Amino acid sequence: MSKEITTRLSGQFALVTGASSGIGAAVAVALAAHGASVVVNYSHDEEGANKVVKTITDAGGQAYAAEADVSKEDQVQAMFKQAIEKFGTLHIVVANAGIQVDSPFLDMTLAQWQKVIDVNLTGQFLCLREAAREFVRRGPQPDVSTALGKIICMSSVHEVIPWGGHVNYASSKGGIMQLMKSTAQELAPQKIRINSIAPGAIATPINLSARDTPEEEKALLELIPYNRVGDPADIGRLAAWLVSDEADYITGQTIFMDGGMTLYPGFASGG
Ligand code: NAD
Repeated sequence: MSKEITTRLSGQFALVTGASSGIGAAVAVALAAHGASVVVNYSHDEEGANKVVKTITDAGGQAYAAEADVSKEDQVQAMFKQAIEKFGTLHIVVANAGIQVDSPFLDMTLAQWQKVIDVNLTGQFLCLREAAREFVRRGPQPDVSTALGKIICMSSVHEVIPWGGHVNYASSKGGIMQLMKSTAQELAPQKIRINSIAPGAIATPINLSARDTPEEEKALLELIPYNRVGDPADIGRLAAWLVSDEADYITGQTIFMDGGMTLYPGFASGG
């Protein structure tokens, strides 16, 4: 995190789910680096969340860690209630928490399907609904931000790229696309901006198994025309801009940040 805190998001309060590691941690740090105070949500990794809070506070920012399983309505509501009690309100919510539970389709159990849908899709529904309710309750604060509130859904290139062996995950991300677009359409008149970031391959714990060996890394790079795996900080920078007033006229969009993965590089020499 840069030592200097900028003012792009100063006076704004943010909540990032699944922020104890990977992309969520980088987004929390980036929002704080631009002046937002941040709730660092975690489900089990308290130590990871505390590390993220320390990174932010050591740099002069404000943050605290909050435990909640995003797939549980009562826990999500309690987390939002606590944030509003502590901060007064929220202006930014990043629904980032997500999991993979991979299985060949013929062997996929209902439990494997349901777990991924519960965390990745229902978890985002619960967080978006609490966020929108709070933005409407609080009302406009034009001195703080032009929009009533800003939401980012963490999607994936797999909202459009089919992914055999990961049907539950790809289905959850396809669902997030319509959750994001439909809520953005419904809530735009109330000046709530909702967008998705769709990362390609970013180096985080979720995809360690795809980068374990040099051969696996090479196979992964063949899918990325820009020829590097993404860094969580790449996503953090985009998120901090997307929730700022510089992006005020953007709503209902998925921004792919994938080094060209959605350019279908296999077709560069074939097809
Ligand atoms: P990660 O495993 O580091 O992060 C996922 C986070 O979600 C973890 O902190 C985990 O503890 C948390 N989490 C899991 N279940 C939860 C629950 N029930 N309640 C609250 N938190 C929970 O991996 P990541 O790559 O940083 O993933 C973050 C998001 O980015 C996910 O939605 C993932 O689908 C998406 N994504 C990642 C990549 C990538 O290449 N890394 C690509 C596309 C999309």
